[in-house]
Amino acid sequence: MEEPNHIYQFSLLNALMDGVSASGIPVSKFLSKGNQGLGTFVLMDGELLSLDGVVYQLQSEGRVREAGNDEQIPFGVTTNFVAEKTETVKLENKVAIDKILDTNLPPSANLFVTYRITGTFTHIKARTVKGQEYPGQPLSELGDSQFVSTYDNISGTVIGFRSPKAFQGLAVAGEHLHFISEDRKVGGHVLEISGENLKMGMARVKDVHVELPTGKDFNEATLVSDDAGIKKVEG
Ligand SMILES: [Zn+2]
Repeated sequence: MEEPNHIYQFSLLNALMDGVSASGIPVSKFLSKGNQGLGTFVLMDGELLSLDGVVYQLQSEGRVREAGNDEQIPFGVTTNFVAEKTETVKLENKVAIDKILDTNLPPSANLFVTYRITGTFTHIKARTVKGQEYPGQPLSELGDSQFVSTYDNISGTVIGFRSPKAFQGLAVAGEHLHFISEDRKVGGHVLEISGENLKMGMARVKDVHVELPTGKDFNEATLVSDDAGIKKVEG
């Protein structure tokens, strides 16, 4: 396992925005790099959340399955999370996460931050991407066909990463968080969140390792940051 709170990332968000998602690293390798992570699957079939040794595929229509060791991850970020600080928090909305991180961690606006929130959430609105309809379809188009669901009074875990503005395109600048229910039956990319008496562990990250794909599709991608497009589909 990697050192605590180092980020390992495979590929770039911009590559995903350009539709590069035909292959990637195996689940087994991703799991060896950390105990919590986010990402997606080949052809962007759903959302990925990894937690304590298991990679979950959060599929459209809200279904969840465990991914096998040989399945491939075309984009993912993970870390061996060890909380630097743990607090009991109240979240009125998604923006509140930013404030809690700013209040509880030393200055970290230009560092990466990772966190884990557990408890019973008053409200979660989550989406799952339905997957590419043709190879190379850009992620920005898939945002229009995503499956969105809301859950009230649901117990579970949120895994989150906050990336600095300067890294928009490498990652999702700002907050990026995925949810999975305690019974592992539903989950997705979090659009809205609220709750109280939630346990939130958080840590700063100053070491980031990015592994790039070597394929033709990656090398033919333009990789130009589309700030508005990323905010629309990943915000
Ligand atoms: Zn996501």
